[in-house]
Amino acid sequence: MFRRSYYRVKRSIKRTPLRWLVFLLLLIAAMFVTDRYVAHQHLPWRPLDITAPTGFATDIQLTRLALSPASRCARMIESVTDYQTRVAEPHRPQGSCGWDIARNIDGSEAADLKPTDVTMQCPLAVGMYIWMREMDKVAMEHLGTGVKSIQHYGAYSCRPIAGTSTPSEHSYANAFDISGFVLDDGRVVSVLKDWNGSPERRKFLRAARRQACKIFRVTLSPDYNDAHADHFHIDMGPSSSCR
Ligand SMILES: [Zn+2]
Repeated sequence: MFRRSYYRVKRSIKRTPLRWLVFLLLLIAAMFVTDRYVAHQHLPWRPLDITAPTGFATDIQLTRLALSPASRCARMIESVTDYQTRVAEPHRPQGSCGWDIARNIDGSEAADLKPTDVTMQCPLAVGMYIWMREMDKVAMEHLGTGVKSIQHYGAYSCRPIAGTSTPSEHSYANAFDISGFVLDDGRVVSVLKDWNGSPERRKFLRAARRQACKIFRVTLSPDYNDAHADHFHIDMGPSSSCR
């Protein structure tokens, strides 16, 4: 009895390295197949492609861009010819507010910002380019027409998060508040009026939030609290939230 148990344990120890080797080979094969056949935007280890649709790993890829040298983001934003953006002058008014490197954004081929000339940090601007392009498709799907303009309350504002002493991401031009959409046919979809409006508009606004959550680190909608009843807040700060 003792002898049989002894041999069983010995056999299992002998087999263990082989099992690990097989597991490792299968893992390498699976990664190779995934890398080869799964679309770029779903693979967290690939760099962001600004021209790709949103996918499983878009937010991770954009976060990695935000953590990499600023020149990489600048090169990416300048690689798309249909994005109306310029380098912003550095702005350091007081305390920790302001920015050293940012872009002034007017809009893209997909949609313009209303009003134009919004200063935001480069990774946020890259995210906006992707989101505006996706929103054009979302509007076509739910409302039968594209997006002409994005209405907003701006990006930069040197202030703390409401009810706290923590600086808001708006203090660094790293957040943006979106209040509505002007469609190609002239209709306006407002976050305040349409969040609980007609079924199509409700679906459209929830799809807008879903797309934002796939891109930005933080997306807050009217579902979050009353302070966001009239806008979506998006930012590229260190927190992570989709509400
Ligand atoms: Zn905000």
